[in-house]
Amino acid sequence: MANPSILILAGDGIGPEVMAEVKKIIGWYDAKRGITFDVSEDLVGGCAYDKHGTPLHDDTMAKAQEVDCVLLGAVGGPKYDNLDFSVKPERGLLRLRKEMDLYSNLRPAQCFDALADFSSLKKEVVAGLDIVIVRELTSGVYFGEPRGIFTEGNERVGINTQRYTESEIARVARSAFEMARRRNNKVCSMEKANVMESGILWRQVVQEIHDKEYPDVELSHMYADAGAMQLCRWPKQFDVIVTDNLFGDLLSDAAAMLTGSLGMLPSASLGAPMANGRPKALYEPVHGSAPDIAGQGKANPIACVLSFAMALRYSFDLGDEATRLEQAVEKVLAEGVRTADLMGPESGTPVSTSAMGDAIVAALDASL
Ligand code: NAD
Repeated sequence: MANPSILILAGDGIGPEVMAEVKKIIGWYDAKRGITFDVSEDLVGGCAYDKHGTPLHDDTMAKAQEVDCVLLGAVGGPKYDNLDFSVKPERGLLRLRKEMDLYSNLRPAQCFDALADFSSLKKEVVAGLDIVIVRELTSGVYFGEPRGIFTEGNERVGINTQRYTESEIARVARSAFEMARRRNNKVCSMEKANVMESGILWRQVVQEIHDKEYPDVELSHMYADAGAMQLCRWPKQFDVIVTDNLFGDLLSDAAAMLTGSLGMLPSASLGAPMANGRPKALYEPVHGSAPDIAGQGKANPIACVLSFAMALRYSFDLGDEATRLEQAVEKVLAEGVRTADLMGPESGTPVSTSAMGDAIVAALDASL
């Protein structure tokens, strides 16, 4: 049987630096666990524009459609800020998401005990937190028609349309229920069914999919504004939250910040199952290309490493290996190894990107 395949698109700025540490870990799985990935690499973002005049070459897009998953670093940088909108680095990422039809965006918010002091909330509220927000990514108010700025009488009016079809809601609901079955079997669906018809339909369809296909999963519904309050009050009450594109945009950013640094946050964007049963998938850290620290060996690679752990779990059914990698990260943090973004003003000397990667590999060795 062919090895599982990964397309690495490291991108710009700190993207290649953090991805270098993931490549060490991929090498470790090959050498120490006999798990071999067929890895290919290509360009996305500003570096692709520099070479091809486009942030994503058609050949790269075609490769992304063929592999088991794409691992992306980050795109963008000041050098590209004045480019035409159509060739900006971010367009490469948007094209990948759109053409792979990645409708389910998973944003975990996990608080490692060693970093609980970094949260803006009290330690007891966040210590041990481990939740996932599943955000619908390809529909809703960011895409609905009509949209635009029009003139009515003698004033302008800005219009966006919240629109969801039953099948769009059903497929992201399934994605959340599947996720819950791999975790603590609990889903909370959030919308505004009290004031929006799209919210009423959302609630009905999520309930129907639950009753027909996932009766074993505990399901609750919450208005999204109340959900935002509950996320800040006692986030540990949740396991998986499923919500639409707009509310998910806000709720996932808020939830992410419960846990501290941007350098720690992974994400996955999943689409429909491919012929081999695995979902189309792109894994990437939440952070950008961090031009202020790029090229200095200061970046925290953990967000990218944890994105690879998500790939192990969701694309390759290697949940135990994903847990091994997450526990290696936890061990390194508990030992006090810190990149600069994880240090308070009073603490000691930070380690480099590469030293953090080496420490994670050493912790993987220790796990054997
Ligand atoms: P950013 O996430 O790149 O950086 C924000 C701050 O967080 C910076 O101070 C940076 O140094 C720090 N930071 C980010 N990741 C870090 C890490 N791994 N380790 C340590 N510190 C880290 O956001 P920005 O500054 O708003 O954007 C910079 C560029 O990245 C822009 O061109 C933007 O368009 C692009 N961007 C890309 C993505 C993506 O590729 N998915 C996401 C967001 C922004």
